[in-house]
Amino acid sequence: MTSALVPAPSTSITRGPTPAHEPPTIEAVCLDIDDTLIDFTGSARTALSVLIGRDDMWSAWQRVTEEHSALVVSGELDYDTMRRARTKAFLADLGTPCDDDTVAELEDRRLHQMSRAWRLFPDVLPCLDWLRAADIKIAAVTNASGPHQRGRLVDLGLGRFFDAVVSAGELGAAKPDPVIFHTACGLLGARPERTAHVGDRLDLDAHGARDAGLRGIWLDRTRTGEPQEPGVPVVDTLADLPALLVTEYRTPTVTSASALPAPRG
Ligand SMILES: [Mg+2]
Repeated sequence: MTSALVPAPSTSITRGPTPAHEPPTIEAVCLDIDDTLIDFTGSARTALSVLIGRDDMWSAWQRVTEEHSALVVSGELDYDTMRRARTKAFLADLGTPCDDDTVAELEDRRLHQMSRAWRLFPDVLPCLDWLRAADIKIAAVTNASGPHQRGRLVDLGLGRFFDAVVSAGELGAAKPDPVIFHTACGLLGARPERTAHVGDRLDLDAHGARDAGLRGIWLDRTRTGEPQEPGVPVVDTLADLPALLVTEYRTPTVTSASALPAPRG
């Protein structure tokens, strides 16, 4: 880490009365995992294409996934049972019904293919380093299974950055339910209005966090260009998150533009 990333000591901060219009400072950041930290869609699409020998069924897979993920959140299925049930339903919809043993084998093969392709987005580590240097608490907030997501974070070397991991599968509440955001704030010891949540889904992440009283930030990696809403900042890379936190929310431990990471190339 360069010295430019290390925030100045808090004793150097001169803080007068806070104007009424000035947003509160940020003391905690929640981050979605899939497609925010990890290129989940890229690896999942590749694995599905390898499994079925075609690449035009991603939307159908997503639909079946959403239906089955809801059963995990509601407690009707555990995660591993859901995976097999999802693949069985998907293959049946595809016109190739399989018995349980075949489904289990194909699903294991798909998961193995996925795990070989998982990778971090290149902007993740510099951003997490900056948040840590700024003494901001960090939580991962995911709608997926807790044990699997924790395993992924550890495997990718991210475990040391997170003060908490909150998963819908363990909590029984999924984004955009305010319960999952408030649970993360509680674990971090941060008030919602002093907590930012960043994720790739405008509805589940940015709007969900905003509606729960947090500072919702949309990570629009694919630059879809959907209309922006007042109060929902948009970044297309995590490289821009430190600057956003400093300028939009006046994070107190970073005192000047000179403390920001170098602009992205
Ligand atoms: Mg996501």
